[in-house]
Amino acid sequence: MPIYEFSCTGCDRFEQNHPMGSVPDLVDCPVCGTPARRMMSAPHLSAAGSSAYGLIEKAARSAAEPDVVDSIGPGRRARPRRAVTSNPLHRMLPRP
Ligand SMILES: [Zn+2]
Repeated sequence: MPIYEFSCTGCDRFEQNHPMGSVPDLVDCPVCGTPARRMMSAPHLSAAGSSAYGLIEKAARSAAEPDVVDSIGPGRRARPRRAVTSNPLHRMLPRP
């Protein structure tokens, strides 16, 4: 259930949980009992756990503590040489 912020004219702001589909515009203030109006406030979204957050966290961590690499990645290996041509006379040419 999301947290909504309300503002009482006599007191201060307070927060209450309400279901997203049935949020009242006016709620009785828990301190003085007068109707308090719902306020528009920035949502407190947490990025923790998302893939973008993990990527940013990993990039920031690698700047200070780079990982130790003990092998070359799978895409960087040298490929074995293949014959470019099938003409047998080309085998007699000098090799570089
Ligand atoms: Zn109040």
